[in-house]
Amino acid sequence: MADLSKLLDGFQPSPIGEIFSLATRLKEQGRDIVDLSIGEPDFDTPEHVCETAIDAIRNGATKYTSTDGTTALKRAVQTKLARDNGLDYGIDQIVIDSGVKPLLYHAMQAVLDPGDEVIVPTPCWPSYEGMAALIGARTVFVPTAEQRGFKLDPEDLEQAITPCSKLVVFNSPGNPTGAAYSADELAALGEVLLRHPQVWIFSDDIYEHILFDGFRFATLAQVEPRLRDRALTFNGVSKGYAMTGWRIGYVAGPPTAIDSLRMILSQNNGNPPTMSQEAAVAALEGPQEFLAARAASFQERRDLTAGLVNAIAGLRCSRPEGAFYLYVHCGAYLGGTAPDGGRIETSSDFVRYLLSEAGVAVVPGSAFNCDPYFRVSYASSRDELSEAGRRLAEACGRLEMA
Ligand code: PLP
Repeated sequence: MADLSKLLDGFQPSPIGEIFSLATRLKEQGRDIVDLSIGEPDFDTPEHVCETAIDAIRNGATKYTSTDGTTALKRAVQTKLARDNGLDYGIDQIVIDSGVKPLLYHAMQAVLDPGDEVIVPTPCWPSYEGMAALIGARTVFVPTAEQRGFKLDPEDLEQAITPCSKLVVFNSPGNPTGAAYSADELAALGEVLLRHPQVWIFSDDIYEHILFDGFRFATLAQVEPRLRDRALTFNGVSKGYAMTGWRIGYVAGPPTAIDSLRMILSQNNGNPPTMSQEAAVAALEGPQEFLAARAASFQERRDLTAGLVNAIAGLRCSRPEGAFYLYVHCGAYLGGTAPDGGRIETSSDFVRYLLSEAGVAVVPGSAFNCDPYFRVSYASSRDELSEAGRRLAEACGRLEMA
């Protein structure tokens, strides 16, 4: 028999996709499911962006572009980084890809060797580990504490760095907690990284525009310019501009890494969709005011959902700085018993119970390497969130705590 790659030994599909598929299957069977498992804004792509793409298709934007993106989009990214982040990059220090997800993987291919260690603060988006594993690199998870707002302690970062450390990944505001680092907090982490020149830094800024209570966005390359020769800043249009399906992400960084990344893309990637690149130019160069209005809408829903969750005995969550997630502690229910006699031993058991009994889909903390929690995405209507709160309260009330 022909063998598969040994890199796939023990490799698992993304656990977020799994719960989403389960919820979808139940919906197809006619069950009424409130789906709070999806990491996707519920807003539509802005009209002017759609119009640009339709015109672009009509005007022939249907052919290949350069694999690392069009000059027009790189220019728009260059202007955006200067305008919003105080970062000055040349056009040749910017690469476009079909979303931040593939871009992170391709960039990891540029900086990692098998056996290298990738430091990831947890709870974290599961794909960082999956991508590193496909290169044969090992993820070193560094836990953060709920009491510290799920933010990495500089001392813990220092402790985690070894001679094998090659990369640290930051994600602020973060999935799954919504935690965002202030400029001062990033500066303290930057101090540590300055002492370890062999370590690359990836900042995944995809939730940049979804911030609350006047919190000011910061990214490491901006806060600590002395790290710019090994810091790569990733961002895209998926979350802020509600363009998840358009598949456009970008990265800016030092020529060493960006040139290698461009070379990799030239061999193993096609260009990001041509019409989507034109649409992304319209998104980045067009009106930006709606971003704040949408963030305000998310903030209202954060407060609504956190209020509903915290009113349920045995559940608790804080009100994070950004993104559209709450990370809810559910430890009080572990060891408990469901009405049918089933035991709730893990956050996955709890989440499965919520799906089958309450028809509410959320993602277990095991998916993000931090338990006993579950993630709620509140990018749903206020009615759906209220209904989910009611159902959760009822289902939790039927559980016998240990
Ligand atoms: N980074 C994080 C932390 C995410 O949560 C997601 C999507 O859920 C992505 C990246 C993917 O972004 P994109 O749609 O640009 O591939």
